[in-house]
Parts: sequence; C-alpha cells; structure tokens
Amino acid sequence: MNIEIVILGSGTAVPTVDRGAAGYLLIVDNEKVMFDCGPGSTRKLAQAGFELIDLDRVCISHFHPDHVCDLTAILFGSRIPNYSRTKPLELVGPVGLKQHYEKLLNIFGNWLISKDYELIITELHPSNTFAIVEYQHYKLMAQMVDHSYPAFGYRVETPTGIITYSGDTDYCEGIISLCENADIAVLECSTPDERKIHGHLTPSLAGQIAQKAKVKHLVLSHFYPECQMVDLTSQCRKFYNGQITLAKDLMRFPLRVF
Ligand SMILES: [Zn+2]
Ligand SMILES: [Zn+2]
Repeated sequence: MNIEIVILGSGTAVPTVDRGAAGYLLIVDNEKVMFDCGPGSTRKLAQAGFELIDLDRVCISHFHPDHVCDLTAILFGSRIPNYSRTKPLELVGPVGLKQHYEKLLNIFGNWLISKDYELIITELHPSNTFAIVEYQHYKLMAQMVDHSYPAFGYRVETPTGIITYSGDTDYCEGIISLCENADIAVLECSTPDERKIHGHLTPSLAGQIAQKAKVKHLVLSHFYPECQMVDLTSQCRKFYNGQITLAKDLMRFPLRVF
C-alpha cells in the first residue's frame, strides 16, 4: 500500500515567503485526503502536482481561517467548466461543519454548488471517545483536542501504518491518545519554548507528547515566524528520542514502517 504525506502549508495565520497556512495531503493508494485547507493550500496542491479533482475528501480540524479558508476555493474550483468534478467529495469535520458550509452559501450562493458531483458532509460529534469513520483502505479517527471549541486532531490507521495530525492543540490527553504508536505524527509547533501561547504546542511539549505516545517519526509543523532562527530540534530532543523532522512546504513523507 502506497502511503505518503505531502506538506502543503507548514505555516500559520501569519504567512511568510517559505510557509503558507495549514494544509496536508495524505495519499493512501489512489485516495487523496486533504487535512485542513488554509489560504493558499490549494495553490500548494497544484505545486505538488495535484488537481482539485484529485481530492476525495477534506478533513477539517477546526474553523479558524488559517485551516479552512480555501474550502471556498475548493468548492468554487470544482465547478469550473472543463475542470469540473464528477466524483463525490466528502467534507469531514467537527459539528458545525454543515453550518459553516451554509454560511459560505449565504455569501457565495450557487457559485459553490454543482449538480455534477455529490457533496457529502460528515459531521463528527465531540465526545470523550474516538469518533470513527471506516473507509475501504483505512480507518479515520478523530478526537477532541485542547484549542478552540470544537477542535479535532485526526488519526488514520492503515494496514501499513498509523498517521496522526494534531490540527491546533495545546498539551492534552486527546492528542496523546491520537498519537499512540503512530508511525508518523504531524504535530503543530506554533512557537519556541520561550514564547509559549495558550492553545498551542512548543517543541518541548510536542516532544513530550511524542515520547509518551511512542511516536516513531515526529514531524513538527505550523510554525509562526518567531520559530525562525530558533533551534527547535534541540528543544524537542530534550524530551523525545525518535526521528524529528521540521516540516517545510512541499516536503513529502512516504510511510516507512519501522
Ligand atoms: Zn492554526
Ligand atoms: Zn486554530
């Protein structure tokens, strides 16, 4: 089974030359799943060699603009003549996703709607236990994390291995359980240790989560500009002895089981 993660946006609400807002593409054989779609992430999708019509589903972690703004671009782009989609598109996210979509329709109306494909909206309900959706090649699990409400992290279990994506979160039990024995965990790392902000992780906290959950390969991402010029790997290494990678836009990680 071919499994790969493509970093579409390793940045945040504050874009830099090198880093766009949150977006991650997971490839599981022929399926393409986008996790979050911050502003500019659809452009990065094209730069990575993919088209909007390649997407099978888009999983939203939470409704902050740096994670969801390009939903409008995906829906509008999917109905442009000559490029229009015919296969279904599923949107997955926390409760509130349908309302979010309705509000987009209030603004853009029919420009976001197409008769040529089926749009499926799957709302997952926050609870103390995992919300689980079973697909043909993998199991998608979502768990509440400590950020805005509601905010999810995601875990994808495949026969080949386990991938976790934190969305935005502070240190919490939810993200530790999502990361348990993950082969690759993409964790947010908004600021260096000395600039910790509420609702977000630092390299040390991400390292503690990864160590506790026995993550094999930790990919730090979602960097605010103040992460520049700081040795994030050393801060993380104090607590975690597995493989550490600092994400860059358009990096690709094939899943290798250790
Ligand atoms: Zn964010
Ligand atoms: Zn956020």
